[in-house]
Amino acid sequence: MMKVYNTLSGKKEEFVPIEEGKVSMYVCGPTVYNLIHIGNARPMIVFDTVRRYMEHRGYDVNYVSNFTDVDDKIIKKANEEGTDPSVISERYIAECKKDMEALHVKPATTHPKATCEIDGMIEMIQTLIDKGHAYVAEDGTVYFKTRSFPGYGKLSHKNLDDLRSGGRSLLVSGEEQKQDPLDFVLWKPKKEGEPFWESPWCEGRPGWHIECSVMSKKYLGEEIDIHAGGEDLIFPHHENEIAQSEAANGKPFAKYWMHNGFLNIDNKKMSKSLGNFFTVRDISEKYDLQVLRFFMLSAHYRSPLNFSAELMEAAKNGLERIVTCVSNLNFLLEKAQTQELSADEEKALAQAKEFVTKFDEAMDDDFNTADAISAIFELVKFANTSVGEGASQAFIRALKEEIVELMDICGLTAERRQEILDSEIESLIQERQDARKAKNFARADEIRDLLAGKGIILEDTREGVKWKRA
Ligand code: AMP
Ligand code: ZN
Repeated sequence: MMKVYNTLSGKKEEFVPIEEGKVSMYVCGPTVYNLIHIGNARPMIVFDTVRRYMEHRGYDVNYVSNFTDVDDKIIKKANEEGTDPSVISERYIAECKKDMEALHVKPATTHPKATCEIDGMIEMIQTLIDKGHAYVAEDGTVYFKTRSFPGYGKLSHKNLDDLRSGGRSLLVSGEEQKQDPLDFVLWKPKKEGEPFWESPWCEGRPGWHIECSVMSKKYLGEEIDIHAGGEDLIFPHHENEIAQSEAANGKPFAKYWMHNGFLNIDNKKMSKSLGNFFTVRDISEKYDLQVLRFFMLSAHYRSPLNFSAELMEAAKNGLERIVTCVSNLNFLLEKAQTQELSADEEKALAQAKEFVTKFDEAMDDDFNTADAISAIFELVKFANTSVGEGASQAFIRALKEEIVELMDICGLTAERRQEILDSEIESLIQERQDARKAKNFARADEIRDLLAGKGIILEDTREGVKWKRA
């Protein structure tokens, strides 16, 4: 039985999907105005692992994650660069996808973009107005009327009266026409230099919350199994999504609400002003991004996670221990003389299965990847000590495959990548230059492709050929 901690109930609950064998899952994605930072990578890695484990358990997962591509920060950056906001968002969507790939985060089934879903947003806002859940202020802003939705506050378990009485802090300039401090914007009028769309209320753009309600409904239906994101999104974003979706559709929205804890740096909140801000790209200059994934999964997803140089080194060493074990097993596999399992080996494999069971039990218990990874380490230790001189191929292969599979469920590769040394790269580049001089372009292209296959990118510059690892 799989258990999931549901923020809505504040408890771990048995996971029972709406439709047998299928899981519909929506994960709030990043606002694309910059390279993603390592905090943004946490929900990507964590919920990708949830997805992979569910797929491993035989569920067909429909995974939707949006890109927020209309937002003040995107517009500001576009104005600074004197370009269109879509140039900024497209650039950072492409960069984000590169980071996701390097982190082994599978592409979502659908990655919708807010700007492509404006019609659906206008339609849902109109429904909310028609049903008395939203009102249009004099300046054309449309607000959601939180008092019209009795369940408001059920996700964040906040005391709404306290929030209302402290309401001045909720008042944003330009939103003075709200009837209640907790009401929030569904549609706002355009400002000079901003992108805008036609609507029945004014030329303008949507508020942030409405996009997820609309995209979730369009791509997954009115009722979904899991809605997820970082814990900072519980209030107001997810609270507001519930209010909009349930008020518009007249149905419960998501069955399970999952939230990851925050990532801090050296026990401090990550921030540009403190100078402790890292993009995923920064980390990739020092580490294979698998190390970052392994590091993130070494903690429970709901716990706060502290990032530091020492902890990353520890993660690197831990991962190396597993990869080395598999590489030794590969070596022994080639050397092994006998094929068939011996009776003792059969018994040993049954023992090894206990670690696999431990892994599954940990993952079934609200995706406890920390304990699941401990089980992998135990299996590695077992393999290191139980594969001796006369081990059979079947035995070595079975142990290796167990390790590789458990790692794969976590989105981690246990097989060592084919490494290439700097000196080998240099000599291949030289050979390519010689081939070009001799007009043997086929060979030159072949070398370029060979290097590309090993993640080496060549760049022909005026100063000669430069190369870098992808
Ligand atoms: P944003 O682009 O700020 O909307 O964030 C995209 C996702 O990253 C959301 O699910 C956030 O909750 C999550 N997130 C942002 N910062 C952190 C952090 N420091 N630790 C963990 N998750 C974060
Ligand atoms: Zn969202």
